[in-house]
Amino acid sequence: MPFYSQFRYRWNFYPPVQQMHCFCAYLMNAHILKLFLAYYTMRYSRQEIVIGKDGQKKLSQATVAVLGLGAVGSVAAELLARSGTNLLLIDRDVVEESNLQRQLYDEDDVDKPKAIALKERLASVNSRIRIGAVADDFNASNAEALLTSAHFVVDGLDNLYSRFLLNDACMKRRIPFTYSASVGTSGIVSTIAPGKTACLRCFLPNPSPGALETCETAGILAPASATVGALAAGEAMQHLAGNIPSLAGELLSIDVKRASFDTATLPQRHDCPACNGAYTFLEEKEHGMRTAQLCGTKSYYVAAPKKLSLDLHAFAKQLGKICRVQRQNAYVLQLACGSKDVTLFRNGKMIVRNASNENEAKSAAARILSS
Ligand SMILES: [Zn+2]
Repeated sequence: MPFYSQFRYRWNFYPPVQQMHCFCAYLMNAHILKLFLAYYTMRYSRQEIVIGKDGQKKLSQATVAVLGLGAVGSVAAELLARSGTNLLLIDRDVVEESNLQRQLYDEDDVDKPKAIALKERLASVNSRIRIGAVADDFNASNAEALLTSAHFVVDGLDNLYSRFLLNDACMKRRIPFTYSASVGTSGIVSTIAPGKTACLRCFLPNPSPGALETCETAGILAPASATVGALAAGEAMQHLAGNIPSLAGELLSIDVKRASFDTATLPQRHDCPACNGAYTFLEEKEHGMRTAQLCGTKSYYVAAPKKLSLDLHAFAKQLGKICRVQRQNAYVLQLACGSKDVTLFRNGKMIVRNASNENEAKSAAARILSS
């Protein structure tokens, strides 16, 4: 093929100029390339003013795992998707109608797994990022494997047991992560950098049922959870862009009712097990909600993460806000929680009836133990 024809063959892929001189075609296609590059660059131009082109490049090469896709997690995930960060979305639950007031799902998403629904939504928000979705339980057997590709983890969890497990997995693999939670009109955010700051076990005692209020007992306002989700996403972006997150080693408490923001420094505890390499939740010494389906029924036996000794009378009082107490004595508490019947024993074990699958039973059990 003569040189001229080769040149024409190479550059004549733009239909309207097929009959034009090859040099004009080259110019046209170069122009298109320029427009494409300008469009690509335009997308993050406002963000690049703040974090720089290098920062933007780092974001586009990184992956953030968002663990728990409720009010905090779904907001953080959407902001990170818009920023150009790749995502791994993890949640075992399905979308319920009562989620729509504060979580970024549509009415059409009800009954869909949250991880899948959010992946579909965010793929239309930003088609240029990679989004993984895991609609499964986060437990001691898969925690490390799930987080292998993550450069940062946003905590959108709804119970303390999973948070302690996240703490162990991230401390062991040296992955920075947020401790972020919201209930009522308030919320807290902190960034934990393994080996550099206090970890969750440095400043929180072991998880004990009834220790913290949940959105089911205390309610939740969307502006509070959205603020926490936004702050958690901001911490992730700061870290990925190469800066020290503002809340590394600090605990920020917010309250949208009082419009207050307060911070406190979190000291590292020298006898903290996780900081000293003892990952007891990850090794299932203290964690691991185990289930077994009762033969041929929609009932599941759920064993609490560790042996408990519950004051069932006090527990019934607290749980009365989310479930109907049907029967109680010193040893057993019989509850009707939505469509599920739950028998809770003093040692923390329970039987969950009318659960569609194992994950649903675990979710119900986690909610009860977090109440
Ligand atoms: Zn620690």
